[in-house]
Amino acid sequence: MTCANAPYVARDLAHVWHPCTQMKDHEQVPLIPIRRGSGAWLEDYAGKRYLDAVSSWWVNLFGHANPRINAAVRAQLETLEQVILAGFTHEPVIALSEELVAVAPPGLTRCFYADNGSSAVEVAMKMSFHYWRNVGRTDKRRFITLTNSYHGETLGALAVGNVELYKEIYRPLLMDVITVPSPDCYQRAAGTTWAEHSRAQFVHMEAALARHAHEAAAVIVEPLVQCAGGMRMYDPVYLTLLREACDRHRVHLIADEIAVGFGRTGTLFACEQAGIRPDLMCLSKGLTGGYLPLSVVMTTEPLYAAFYDEYVKLNAFLHSHSFTGNPLACAAARATLAIFREDRVLERNRALAAHLGARARELEEHPHVAEVRQRGMIVAIEMVQDKTRRRPYPWQERRGLTIYRHALERGVLLRPVGNVVYFMPPYVVTPQEIDLMVEVAREGLGLATCA
Ligand SMILES: *Cc1c(COP(=O)(O)O)cnc(C)c1O
Repeated sequence: MTCANAPYVARDLAHVWHPCTQMKDHEQVPLIPIRRGSGAWLEDYAGKRYLDAVSSWWVNLFGHANPRINAAVRAQLETLEQVILAGFTHEPVIALSEELVAVAPPGLTRCFYADNGSSAVEVAMKMSFHYWRNVGRTDKRRFITLTNSYHGETLGALAVGNVELYKEIYRPLLMDVITVPSPDCYQRAAGTTWAEHSRAQFVHMEAALARHAHEAAAVIVEPLVQCAGGMRMYDPVYLTLLREACDRHRVHLIADEIAVGFGRTGTLFACEQAGIRPDLMCLSKGLTGGYLPLSVVMTTEPLYAAFYDEYVKLNAFLHSHSFTGNPLACAAARATLAIFREDRVLERNRALAAHLGARARELEEHPHVAEVRQRGMIVAIEMVQDKTRRRPYPWQERRGLTIYRHALERGVLLRPVGNVVYFMPPYVVTPQEIDLMVEVAREGLGLATCA
């Protein structure tokens, strides 16, 4: 560890308990105090720079200290930092809602705000349950979810998620859900296309809906990419089939676009690739360009209308968070949407994604890489012990950590999920920076798999 970082590390470790971390690891793994960020780069107190290949946990879209988002937040700061959103309103939240409705799948006309992704998932679940109660269907109270899904860490969100690592210990606290095999195309048989596999996997969902529709409020999915579950991907046809089946069985469809929204999969929202409109769509992470905590659940007029009634009927959605619709966060979100419009970001990303995919696919030849897969600006490399049988390395070996540590040495922030190395860079990344992160991943793979 370099000297200039040391005092910060010591002070930190005296009091800060870090997220998703075994704190004892920091006896071995360096903690890195970041002094500033600029574009796709972070810089520590010793002046060492790190290319942020994971967008600071999938939130950052247009770089750190982006001048346009900075200016928007600064201007907002001078006029109003926060106000209660019950009984009161403000221009940033009004304008942001108009702008979101304009770009979301048609029909999602109502915006309910919270301040992080997990809370948005809780909101969507409560809304769906409460809708059915308001229309007289008190029996519809269960949720259908996919294996390997992730929807956040609060108890409701954890219950509908399916990543064992995060869930298992808390199982006694969690509601019972209906879990259906994922359309994850890593599992497809050789010679089968993504579309064929995803379509075939839908039989499980169809069966679950047929069996449980009478008691199910909603199906919740991460459209196209199960990110925390190892960037596992599936074909849009699954979403098309799901939309039709949810309508037929009268079950809501909740699209958790918290990670995949805002251009990550190539379209502004992943649902667009299936041409569908969910009943409830959760957004967060990139919503503010990765600047400030904010989330929103977008829903339809019919769903909203079921809550619109005399107060004493208790049909209202009496859910709130202290910082619901914070004006500073809304200002950052508006600046983010403006950049999408003004810079034709999705168009420019096509060239970046092509370059990223082409470079990353070179790693497919590596003897311990089973697959390199891509959806837009997300590319994942599946590291395995045995390439032909696709046998994974035991998780206890923590081979991803070797890659993480090597990448830090080389000035790149890569943070594999288990045995999956992935790139989810901010959209300001250059082709040269892409080359660097792929090269460093290649070196890291070599080190992680050599013994
Ligand atoms: C990150 C994430 C969440 C949770 O969001 P937080 O802001 O971390 O609570 C929910 N769903 C998906 C798909 C996510 O990637």
